[in-house]
Amino acid sequence: MAWKNADVVVIGGGIIGTAIAYFLSRQKIDVILLEKSGIASGSSGACDGAVVMQTKKPGVHLKLALESHALLSRMQDQLPIPIEYEKNGGLIVMETDDEKTAMKQFVEAQCQAGLDVELLDHKQLRALAPHLSDHLIGATYSPRDSKINPIALTLGFAMGAKQMGTEILTGTAVLDFEVEERQISAVVTTAGKIGTCTVVNATGVYASEIGRMLGIEIPIKPRRGQLLVTEARPGLLKPWLGSANYIAAKFNPQLAREGAGGVSIDQTQNGNLLIGATREFVGYDKRTTVEGLTQIASRAVRILPDLKHTHLIRAFAGLRPYTPDGLPILGKVGKIKGLIMAAGHEGDGIALSAITGKLISELVLEGKTDVALDSFNLKRFSTDTTQH
Ligand SMILES: Cc1cc2nc3c(=O)[nH]c(=O)nc-3n(C[C@H](O)[C@H](O)[C@H](O)COP(=O)(O)OP(=O)(O)OC[C@H]3O[C@@H](n4cnc5c(N)ncnc54)[C@H](O)[C@@H]3O)c2cc1C
Repeated sequence: MAWKNADVVVIGGGIIGTAIAYFLSRQKIDVILLEKSGIASGSSGACDGAVVMQTKKPGVHLKLALESHALLSRMQDQLPIPIEYEKNGGLIVMETDDEKTAMKQFVEAQCQAGLDVELLDHKQLRALAPHLSDHLIGATYSPRDSKINPIALTLGFAMGAKQMGTEILTGTAVLDFEVEERQISAVVTTAGKIGTCTVVNATGVYASEIGRMLGIEIPIKPRRGQLLVTEARPGLLKPWLGSANYIAAKFNPQLAREGAGGVSIDQTQNGNLLIGATREFVGYDKRTTVEGLTQIASRAVRILPDLKHTHLIRAFAGLRPYTPDGLPILGKVGKIKGLIMAAGHEGDGIALSAITGKLISELVLEGKTDVALDSFNLKRFSTDTTQH
């Protein structure tokens, strides 16, 4: 006998699961959200909050990010707590002529895809961010790039969903499923059995564990990012900043492995600087390392020399849910009726949270979505046609 019943069970209390619960509950759907630990206890509580459009590949990736940004910019007024949304623009700084050539091409493609982004020379860059190093030859700049407090946003989605009727069960892990003739009929949890025909797998780096319970292969693996936090130094850097080789390392795992990865610097509303982040495949290990932290600290000081005189207050690491093509896995899974995937957002889960919530809620409600999800379906990784 089922302990509880729900129209939809969302597994995962990170930014993706809570955003989905929020958008579903806005449509008066009866939702239970299951989280094995606490809300924002996974990747969404150990990351940065950049909502940056410039780091997205032109095409479906950028299209999704732009739609998500439009939704996020309105969330400040819709969620029950402040989420520290700020639209201060974003810079990708360049140190060499080779980087300038590569970024010029990237920017041209992004402009054609509808992003407002331009190339700045050294003088224009210094006018926008006077504390940056003299050796930088320029930057790309988009006024649309923004930032947000990722923990506040996750809690905001969760609280908003709860106010509209979602039942949130923390400390409740999913152990298994009951499936009848390929259709999910119940979720087995540490607290009891929940009857449902629709389950959303929003478990980030653990999505493949849920897949194994259902006999499905999901190619998501953890990619560690180490981050440094400094004391508050208000006014040091207004826009979000990434280095050109940060973009290269994001899309080329080989570069990240060779230590050629770049750096990102983000000043929070109360002045602390978040300096990130490594990109490493070390399983589920969330420890920081001296090498990793030294690497990002020295890169950051080269770009923003004032950091030399700024105290570090802590360091932490989180796990990005990595997929082989850098795109999330979204949509129905042919092999199991009633299973919907919403995981694998890598380093973009905060930026893509709102659009993921909206699209998955449309899929549950109407069976189709505003934006076609074909490029994001799990079947792109599978030759097994039963999974299609
Ligand atoms: C260093 C770093 C910096 C980043 N910076 C940015 C950034 O600036 N901008 C951006 O957009 N993104 C950024 N990201 C990426 C972002 O953090 C992730 O894409 C996002 O948090 C993924 O959210 P999620 O909800 O899918 O996963 P999670 O937040 O990990 O949530 C999944 C949840 O599922 C729960 N769970 C797992 N298994 C079970 C089970 N069996 N039963 C019940 N619950 C279960 C887990 O406990 C977890 O809480 C960064 C990531 C890192 C590591």
